[in-house]
Amino acid sequence: MNRKTVLIAEDDLRILDVLEKLLSANGYQALTAVNGQAALQMIRSHCPDMVLLDLGLPKMSGLEVLQQVRQWYERPVIVVSAHGLEKEKVRALDLGADDYITKPFGASELLARMRTAFRHHNVQESGMGNPDSSYSVGDFLIDYNQRKVFVEGVEIRL
Ligand code: CA
Repeated sequence: MNRKTVLIAEDDLRILDVLEKLLSANGYQALTAVNGQAALQMIRSHCPDMVLLDLGLPKMSGLEVLQQVRQWYERPVIVVSAHGLEKEKVRALDLGADDYITKPFGASELLARMRTAFRHHNVQESGMGNPDSSYSVGDFLIDYNQRKVFVEGVEIRL
């Protein structure tokens, strides 16, 4: 199975480093951006499976990034906000963020929220045609996209 790519948009390099190591250790492929413009470019060029978006970013705020990408980027976005900025969090949810987490947060809480966001996203996507949607046991293969069943590579008509 391919590792999921997660873009971490964070200007605090210490936090960025910790998050990058945490995600890598948990089977994700981490991409990084240290300001809003870079985050926007990374989302456009790499289309990551998820974005962890710090709201307080230089050059372009997390809210502006969210506003720009939400028109076409449909994968989960979890916003990371500083403690006490309630309005900002509400605004982010209104703009289409899937969830938010408040600094300082624990590693296990973040990972749990990421799993939840991926799960919700997969439920929404199921049945929509996914390149990995096939199932095989021994010589038996079911291809859900093509709606075909193969045994030893030969299509079986049901
Ligand atoms: Ca920040």
